[in-house]
Amino acid sequence: MDPKIWLSSPHMGEHEFSFVKEAFDTNWIAPLGPNVDGFERDLAQFTGSKHVAALSSGTAAIHLALIMLGVKAGDEVLCQSFTFSATANPIVYQGATPVFIDSETDTWNMCPVLLEEAIKDRIKKGKKPKAIIPVHLYGMPAKMDRIMAIADRYEMPVIEDAAEALGSRLNGKAAGTFGQLGVLSFNGNKIITTSGGGALISNDDNLIDQARFLATQARDAAPHYQHSQIGYNYRISNISAGIGRGQMMVIDERVKQRRRVYETYVKNLSDFEGITFLIEPVNYKSNRWLTTILIDPIKSGGLTRETIRLILEKKNIEARPLWKPMHTQPVFENYPAYINGVSEALFEQGLCLPSGSNLNDQQLQKVIGLIKNTVSNAVNC
Ligand SMILES: *Cc1c(COP(=O)(O)O)cnc(C)c1O
Repeated sequence: MDPKIWLSSPHMGEHEFSFVKEAFDTNWIAPLGPNVDGFERDLAQFTGSKHVAALSSGTAAIHLALIMLGVKAGDEVLCQSFTFSATANPIVYQGATPVFIDSETDTWNMCPVLLEEAIKDRIKKGKKPKAIIPVHLYGMPAKMDRIMAIADRYEMPVIEDAAEALGSRLNGKAAGTFGQLGVLSFNGNKIITTSGGGALISNDDNLIDQARFLATQARDAAPHYQHSQIGYNYRISNISAGIGRGQMMVIDERVKQRRRVYETYVKNLSDFEGITFLIEPVNYKSNRWLTTILIDPIKSGGLTRETIRLILEKKNIEARPLWKPMHTQPVFENYPAYINGVSEALFEQGLCLPSGSNLNDQQLQKVIGLIKNTVSNAVNC
């Protein structure tokens, strides 16, 4: 069998282990300690956000954000449909209703026109949604200037799901720093990883203080264990945060490496009829977490994304269809949705290619060669 080529695998630098070793040497094995503080400082500095709470996962971060914004049973939350289920699940944890919003074609993220339409319609139906969750999918920033203008007009808070977008920028400003709260993830497949982890970022120190309080079982100030709110066990461990500190030393390099992977695919594959790439609009910078292609069967001689995926799979190369929109998922299909067909078309035609920062040239050329062959054969017959 050919050696596996992963979609996106962990890529350690040189310093992760020394931070972890220091945690062992000093017996800081708890969900607090110098690595947690240091990791939060690194993230604040890198994103330009004033305050950061490092947590156990991106999902936990979204859950806490909803709790702090007062989302309760029966409330509605506007959520990008084209995303991973972890964006929407915490809405349902709260007993609230996700209302899904489709995408636009420039960034593949939340469509501002549909967003405003949905807000007006939900208000007309008698309920103003409690929050808006846009996502910076695959690292491409959503149209945050327009989304924030709408959110401000209707006085609604925004939680930005930047789980895939650490290192992405819009007009020079970091993804995750436009809304009241931004969400980061350090799961194993993300651009940097702590093996599992997440963070909430915000310029509002009250929100971040409250996040830390809720994430450590909501313990009131008292010598005994005193609680006046429901708490959660959502803090990151000092061990994981040590890995995170090492990873933050190479984040700029990781962004460069991922962008180079994207550029290599573009250089080698964009001449083929029927294959297109997601281009950065002016002033948008994507971390290119994953390189994605669209394959249009009408232009490619009948070739589909599934043909290419299966050919890669046979060679032990992991490629995946784009996220299946939430409004088409069995678990979410009965919730309200404002749809224009964009995310469904992207799902039909889109494929994520191996994009890890640790791919070598030989691996990349292998993937490119297989796709080139498949496409040339399809066009010839
Ligand atoms: C990974 C991811 C999450 C969840 O992060 P975890 O750390 O895995 O809980 C949320 N939203 C998006 C878009 C993601 O890709």
